[in-house]
Amino acid sequence: MAGQFDGQRVDGQQVGREYDVVVVGGGPAGLSAAVALARSRRSVLVVDAGEPRNATAGHAHNYLGREGVVPADLLADGRAEAVGYGAHVLDGRVVFAGPAGPPGDGDAPDAGRGFDVHVQDGPTVRARRLLITTGLTDQLPAVPGLAERWGRDVLHCPYCHGWEVRDRAIGVLAGPAGGMHQAQLFRQLSDSVTLFTHTGPALSAEQSEVLAARGIDVVDGEVVDLDVVDDRLRGVRLASGETVPLQVLVVAPFFAANADLLTDLGLAVTEMEVGDLVVATHVAADPTGATAVPGVWVAGNVANPMAQVVASAAAGLMAGAALNADLVAEDTRVALAAHRAQREVVRG
Ligand SMILES: Cc1cc2nc3c(=O)[nH]c(=O)nc-3n(C[C@H](O)[C@H](O)[C@H](O)COP(=O)(O)OP(=O)(O)OC[C@H]3O[C@@H](n4cnc5c(N)ncnc54)[C@H](O)[C@@H]3O)c2cc1C
Repeated sequence: MAGQFDGQRVDGQQVGREYDVVVVGGGPAGLSAAVALARSRRSVLVVDAGEPRNATAGHAHNYLGREGVVPADLLADGRAEAVGYGAHVLDGRVVFAGPAGPPGDGDAPDAGRGFDVHVQDGPTVRARRLLITTGLTDQLPAVPGLAERWGRDVLHCPYCHGWEVRDRAIGVLAGPAGGMHQAQLFRQLSDSVTLFTHTGPALSAEQSEVLAARGIDVVDGEVVDLDVVDDRLRGVRLASGETVPLQVLVVAPFFAANADLLTDLGLAVTEMEVGDLVVATHVAADPTGATAVPGVWVAGNVANPMAQVVASAAAGLMAGAALNADLVAEDTRVALAAHRAQREVVRG
């Protein structure tokens, strides 16, 4: 196995100089891949900046067998499992990953040559393959105070938090796509749902009729502020000065892939559209996570903005298995070439 610990120690964490795979990002996708790779006796380093997307949520739901787990506990368990099979995990941020070798030594990434991975204020390590699982950034609407309440009583996902806010007074802030879809999903969870048209498109007569039929109230006007008392959402303030009482506000963030490392490697960021509207960016890959750049894989939210925790973990496992198979194929090619060369020497 390449990449056995050979002497670097960073903040008490052991780091080799060379790995079969460096995984950037230690969320559910990255750690699942690390477990699969380490169990295949691949040397693997996970570098993680420690800012998983759901960090503000108290609990994670819909992960079969771990229902309601505290997100940090799930990741701590995942780290321990990966480390238990021999993976290295380093707290840190990768600031650049590019073709191995001195700068200017040819810029095109090449799986055969490998990659150099630079950790901010930390080591540079070499990887035969890269797996990028850096997730996405939820870009929230420009209403003051949303970020402070994100994942607590400012929400986006009925499957993540819906059960927990059932029967509460729920507001839905219309975004550029409007708020019909979210309003109807949350109506499944509460009789008290109000759609704030905010800066979204005007409702059609048909949409207004649908909302009335479902008992969803509509409030026109822009929401300019939150009403928060004792660290709890109590309502929203409109530009008119009116305050509408609420317990929960649902918003539609823009899902922006954390793709800087991938664009530096020459990959394009793809826009995901709903109707005519761009709602997210991601980096395209085949079903195993292989990108258009040889040797570079992606998994989790950076590749699929809709993936929840269990789907991100599944994508990480898939990528880990595909990476191992790719390395097996390379190891076999190299062994076969050496075997044939030796046979020629014996013959000749
Ligand atoms: C508020 C909220 C609540 C949610 N609740 C649920 C829920 O209940 N159930 C559910 O299934 N899903 C939930 N989700 C979705 C869930 O968060 C994602 O599905 C999941 O986090 C995606 O996993 P990931 O591994 O792709 O990315 P992440 O979990 O975001 O992990 C990415 C990791 O990469 C690190 N990273 C980024 N850039 C670098 C870099 N350059 N160098 C090193 N490390 C880097 C980050 O710091 C982070 O630790 C929720 C999302 C939000 C926003």
